[in-house]
Amino acid sequence: MSKKYLYYFSEGSKAFNGDMTAMKNTLGGKGAGLAEMTAAGMPVPQGFTITTEACTQYYADGRQINEEISADIFEHVKGLEEITGKKFGDNSNPLLVSVRSGARQSMPGMMDTILNLGLNDEAVEGLAKKTGNPRFAYDCYRRFVQMFADVVMMVPKSLFEVEIDKMKEAKGVKNDVDLTADDLKELVAIFKKIYEENEGRPFPQDPRDQLIEAVKAVFRSWDNPRANVYRKMNEIPYEWGTAVNVQQMAFGNSGDRSGTGVAFTRDPATGAKKLMGEYLINAQGEDVVAGVRTPSPISHLQEQMPEVYEEFITIANRLENYFRDMQDMEFTIEDGHLYMLQTRNGKRTAQAALQIACDLVDEGMITEREAVLRVEPKQLDTLLHPQFDAAALKAAEVVGKGLAASPGSACGQIVFTAEDAEEMVKSGKMKKVVLVRLETSPEDIVGMQVSQGILTVRGGMTSHAAVVARGMGTCCVSGCGNDNDVKIDEEAKTFEINGRKFVEGDWISIDGSTGNIYGEQIATVAATGNKNFTRFMGWADEARQLLVMTNADNPRDAQQAVDLGAEGIGLCRTEHMFFAEDRIKAVREMICARTVEAREAALAKVEPFQQGDFEAMYRIMGERPMTIRYLDPPLHEFLPSKDEDIAELAADMGLTFEELKNIVESLHEFNPMMGHRGCRLAVTYPEIAAMQTRAVIKAALNVSAETGKMITPHIMIPLVGEVKELKYVKSVVVETADKLIAEAGVDMKYQVGTMIEIPRAALTAGEIAKEAEFFSFGTNDLTQMTFGFSRDDAAKFLGAYYDKKIYESDPFQHLDQVGVGRLVKMAAADGRATRPDLGLGICGEHGGDPTSVEFCHNVGLDYVSCSPFRVPIARLAAAQAAIKNPRG
Ligand code: ADP
Ligand code: MG
Ligand code: MG
Repeated sequence: MSKKYLYYFSEGSKAFNGDMTAMKNTLGGKGAGLAEMTAAGMPVPQGFTITTEACTQYYADGRQINEEISADIFEHVKGLEEITGKKFGDNSNPLLVSVRSGARQSMPGMMDTILNLGLNDEAVEGLAKKTGNPRFAYDCYRRFVQMFADVVMMVPKSLFEVEIDKMKEAKGVKNDVDLTADDLKELVAIFKKIYEENEGRPFPQDPRDQLIEAVKAVFRSWDNPRANVYRKMNEIPYEWGTAVNVQQMAFGNSGDRSGTGVAFTRDPATGAKKLMGEYLINAQGEDVVAGVRTPSPISHLQEQMPEVYEEFITIANRLENYFRDMQDMEFTIEDGHLYMLQTRNGKRTAQAALQIACDLVDEGMITEREAVLRVEPKQLDTLLHPQFDAAALKAAEVVGKGLAASPGSACGQIVFTAEDAEEMVKSGKMKKVVLVRLETSPEDIVGMQVSQGILTVRGGMTSHAAVVARGMGTCCVSGCGNDNDVKIDEEAKTFEINGRKFVEGDWISIDGSTGNIYGEQIATVAATGNKNFTRFMGWADEARQLLVMTNADNPRDAQQAVDLGAEGIGLCRTEHMFFAEDRIKAVREMICARTVEAREAALAKVEPFQQGDFEAMYRIMGERPMTIRYLDPPLHEFLPSKDEDIAELAADMGLTFEELKNIVESLHEFNPMMGHRGCRLAVTYPEIAAMQTRAVIKAALNVSAETGKMITPHIMIPLVGEVKELKYVKSVVVETADKLIAEAGVDMKYQVGTMIEIPRAALTAGEIAKEAEFFSFGTNDLTQMTFGFSRDDAAKFLGAYYDKKIYESDPFQHLDQVGVGRLVKMAAADGRATRPDLGLGICGEHGGDPTSVEFCHNVGLDYVSCSPFRVPIARLAAAQAAIKNPRG
């Protein structure tokens, strides 16, 4: 049997046995929601879904819809005609449809929807006659021409919008709804002309052509630049593809008993349990979101159309109970009849996600373990973001107030276009920008990403700016033009609110939790804990099987990480302690020393600093383990480069300027990342390893004596590629350490392990484990060396690799599970075969990346270690991995 590429809405739920995941994979999120609502007997305009597999097939066929699938599409159109009693392409009672994209995960504003498809010059007359409402018929047609031109043919929307504005001006009206049937008829003629001028052919009159072109356009839009940006940002794989939904139209634009709206079962900004939404009378599709008029809050519907409101509330509650999560719904009212057009688990801010997860547990709707799966680890990040300093905020003057669309505090310099935002931040001309716009659109996404906050003049709580900002965790105040006296000129780059004028570069602050706008810079402070956060993280920690450590080199970071729940330090880089002003000179002397004696003299100066640093770290960490890595980086990082520094150092070392300059030059390396660094330093200069060992052991002895609790130091030798290398350096460590411990007369244990960060180490892990008591996968270097390109230079060419779909993401951000991951898995297995109790962890940047953490859980590592601010993210990601795939 050939593959099934199409499903009627009425088929989906049964065909997939209500399995939401499988349904979403094939039908997309929107298609799955429509199928479920249909199965539940809710009022849904009927239609069918063309699967994500058909999208994959479209690309496999060289961006064509093959005959089998296109025949099947028209089969289903026929089926839909039977269901609706209308005929596609008919002149007296035409079946009009929407063509809607819908990927597995919603990608707001990324894919485009076409409404009223099936209209042409004759059908529009038929529709006018049948409904007795020519205004409505021509409104549908002008919308259709405009959307088809924009989405399918890429004739810019603005060309049409200018004409609408002109028409409104000529007729002396303010809103689209005030245009008459004749005005709209005239607009259709103008629109069709624009279409023809741009396309070189007339607007297609055959609905069958219209449909196939529209379906192709949706498939094609999966690969448009906006979609690619969004996908990368949200780690959505390219392979997924999008489904297409073809659905009978419900007309919200047929008069004053009609309208369209969106609603959430709970507040997506705060999580409060309260229906929230907006609607517009006599409007269609994206009118609410696009901000053509200011929408009314959903509560008004109770007065305006009480029965519709009651029905909607019942449906909303049923949907929330069924999906056991906050729902984001779209609906349309046609002549007093309610139609549901979409439902999905609503996007929400981190704050709302926690509130909702806790509330759903308290309401008995979900278990604690389910709750843990409901919050995206990455989202936690925004909770830890700075907020306005309370005192500074009190003193600041509010110049206006918009809608509190996405919480957070933003302060930055004003820019008026997304391109400017990008350019200013990239070039460093402005460090922090706030994007101020009439309204945002999907093209603005990159500019929105680099902005501290977004302020829009138009639009409500569900406008593009609001939805996207919440998704990104960026602060947003929308619709400030609704209740304030606002003038904005994006071209002249000026903005005025209640008489206060701003130009590009002026400072502004916005508060996404109150909607307040301040015409000045306001200081920010780090966010403090929240009770839902603590409760929620408790559930996560209970589920988690991986330990979460941190990478910290100084007491401040260590304390911060402990506060954020770190269970130890997985990586303490000793060289970072060397850069401080009071010690860099001694470090330089050590590097430039030409004799062992001179080097030992320099090391003797460094040692007390190092010991002091370790003591401070041990005091903060208490009984939590700390892994100290020995000197690692290429030496040139420490060398003096300025002549005056060389001169000063030469004087200290009793050398001439020339002598020292020669030494510095002799230390030059062609490829420092692969040069004289890591354990190679200790092999050539064992006295460095000896000094570091003294510092560690003495610090541990001192702090153990202070606290009465015996510390077990973990010493980590970096960049090992051969077991004999490790064996040699370890012998220096052991000799030095044992002597000190014996002198102290105590029973202190310590461990010596290594980093696995060179492919050869991974390949010979079984041998290396004979000497190493633990492995820590240094996945930054391991990625760099496995791919053969450096982290610092990759940005120069990775863009081209993404465009050409060679790599989908930055391997330094998300662990490459196929290649690098294979080395990790193999080394872990071989290492444990040699030494069953071998400790295993990861300490690259990947330790704080959710998908990489999941991988670490799945391959059986003991811990991940990441930067302090990512500790909560790693805790949650580890918990989710354990719930999804528990290990014995
Ligand atoms: P998005 O994924 O961007 O939300 P949608 O496919 O949901 O795109 O559609 C865009 C707008 O058009 C929404 O407001 C939706 O409710 C409306 N719409 C889509 N299909 C229909 C239909 N068959 N009848 C009426 N309105 C529709
Ligand atoms: Mg859209
Ligand atoms: Mg939608």
